[in-house]
Amino acid sequence: MRFKKIAAAALTAVMGFGLAACGSTSGGTASASGSSAATTAAAGATTTAASGSASGSFTTAEKGVLHVATNATFPPYESTTDDGGFTGIDIDLANAIAEKLGLTVTIDNMDFGSIVAAVSGGKSDIGMAGMSVTDERKKSVDFTDTYANSKQVIIVTDDSDIKTPDDLSKAGKIGCQEGTTGYMLCSDTPENGGYGEDHVIAYNNGIIAVQALLSGKVDAVVIDAEPAKEYVAANPGTKILDTAFADEDYAICVSKNNPQLRDAVNKALKELKDDGTVKKIIDKYISAS
Ligand code: GLN
Repeated sequence: MRFKKIAAAALTAVMGFGLAACGSTSGGTASASGSSAATTAAAGATTTAASGSASGSFTTAEKGVLHVATNATFPPYESTTDDGGFTGIDIDLANAIAEKLGLTVTIDNMDFGSIVAAVSGGKSDIGMAGMSVTDERKKSVDFTDTYANSKQVIIVTDDSDIKTPDDLSKAGKIGCQEGTTGYMLCSDTPENGGYGEDHVIAYNNGIIAVQALLSGKVDAVVIDAEPAKEYVAANPGTKILDTAFADEDYAICVSKNNPQLRDAVNKALKELKDDGTVKKIIDKYISAS
């Protein structure tokens, strides 16, 4: 149970460290991205929401387009299709929101650790990536209202000695996706309920982390519940432990320089929640359990 009590504090305390640790792909500091955001906003296109569902004007990086930053290795929220397209809850929801805003979606696929910088710097308009709301991220970007809940789970091999979150302290190595809340939790110090940086390996994405589990490079993978189910289904010999930890909320991140866009997205999101569209999209990808 050690995770339950530390979840919130650890997420906020370690987030900055985690991004710094993965700095090669995170694309710049808050101050650097702040200045590029100003440039982009100046060059950006102003749109007045088309359908009347969202009021006011907002800027987007490209006229008529909603650039959505994501990391498409995270089913059922986002993944690639065989023909090079994108599919998942976030993709469908982005399209539904864009339609209300009179925009078309362009997916900007990148490492998860680069998304906040892409949005705060104005290269992408919003980030939708099963992204959990954290206080640390809130220093760099705004979040919309939440649209889904999640939790962190532990994936192990069928024959593993690791049976509970407490057993993770016995793990030689824990695999996580870089820049994620799972990474932040696990790499925190033992005093704060984590396992220490030395025990955690950050991979570019969850798929690679699960491959590392199968090849014995790590003893467990800590990642969000729904992607974990898909990874386990695709990789016989792996399972998810019964005890989950760290409840989280997913939301869309938007540049702090673009409150009009955040408000328009929130308005669209509320309408899509109220008319049952959000539930319908989630149910399409996640079977009720
Ligand atoms: N929900 C986790 C986070 O926000 C992981 C998201 C992801 O890997 N796409 O850090």
